[in-house]
Amino acid sequence: MKPFVKPMAALAALLCVTVYSGSLSGQGQDVRHMVQIAPDVYTFTGGGSNSSFVVTPEGVLVFDADIRNDDLPAIRKVTDKKIVYLLSSHASGDHSTGAWHFRADHPLFIATRNQINSFPVEQKEFNASKAKGVGNYKDAEILPPTMGFDDILSIHFGGLTFVARAEGYGHTNGDLTVYIPQRRVMFMGDLLNNEIHPGQAEAAGVFFAQVQSWIDILNKVVGRNLPVETYVPGHGPPHVGRGAADLEEQRDYFIAMRAEVAKMIQAGKSLEQIQKEFTVPPRFASYQSPGRLTPFLRLYYNQLIEAGTVN
Ligand SMILES: [Zn+2]
Repeated sequence: MKPFVKPMAALAALLCVTVYSGSLSGQGQDVRHMVQIAPDVYTFTGGGSNSSFVVTPEGVLVFDADIRNDDLPAIRKVTDKKIVYLLSSHASGDHSTGAWHFRADHPLFIATRNQINSFPVEQKEFNASKAKGVGNYKDAEILPPTMGFDDILSIHFGGLTFVARAEGYGHTNGDLTVYIPQRRVMFMGDLLNNEIHPGQAEAAGVFFAQVQSWIDILNKVVGRNLPVETYVPGHGPPHVGRGAADLEEQRDYFIAMRAEVAKMIQAGKSLEQIQKEFTVPPRFASYQSPGRLTPFLRLYYNQLIEAGTVN
């Protein structure tokens, strides 16, 4: 495995950004902290889903926002410029519900058309949490995307190019990435999870992830051979400078995990037995959030035998 540097969890000071060589697995994963990915490019990680922002002379572009994490005060410590654009990677609540935090700046909120079509489902889930009086939901509203696109959208803003691309059906039915060539960074949303088992993309009781399509998308992105230094994950710590090795690891993870499930099916195991007896292959055994495995094993199982993807 190629050596790489990992961002250090800044346990106390949000703006204390340090990188060092070595492993951080299991340390500070649950503490929200900010990592500098490239000049003007920052990611909040830990304590839920990742969220990134890019500072330009004309304002700020934010990628992904969760109502449960108000990152605006920390952004304000870096810049007082307005949030001009907000993009969300997909319709899951931990990436698409945070527009409320930026409402004073009235950003243009961009998503794929698929995500816009999924909005009523997200709204239902959001309102259910709001009705329970949960945390930040309590006094907030879910704001819908204001612009949708299929395929590719190029945004020229503040001297940078933001290439937003609808990657197709993978983690969900509409996963969007953003590539910034001048910064050699690509925001992957939940198509990439570092050091953590991926989620099944559950939204209001509907399970979206399609394993083979997800593998295909990862191969497609790798195959572009983009000069990207850092692919920023939707969950788990960004690996600054590791490049496409992260995408390959995510792809290899799915191939290895699915192969294990296939072996167990071949041995006559039921889904329940697989969920109980499954052992994560050694290469991925240190991944965080093993609780995400049980529902995802059902996806491997159902998709291998073509028994459907829902429940
Ligand atoms: Zn997520």
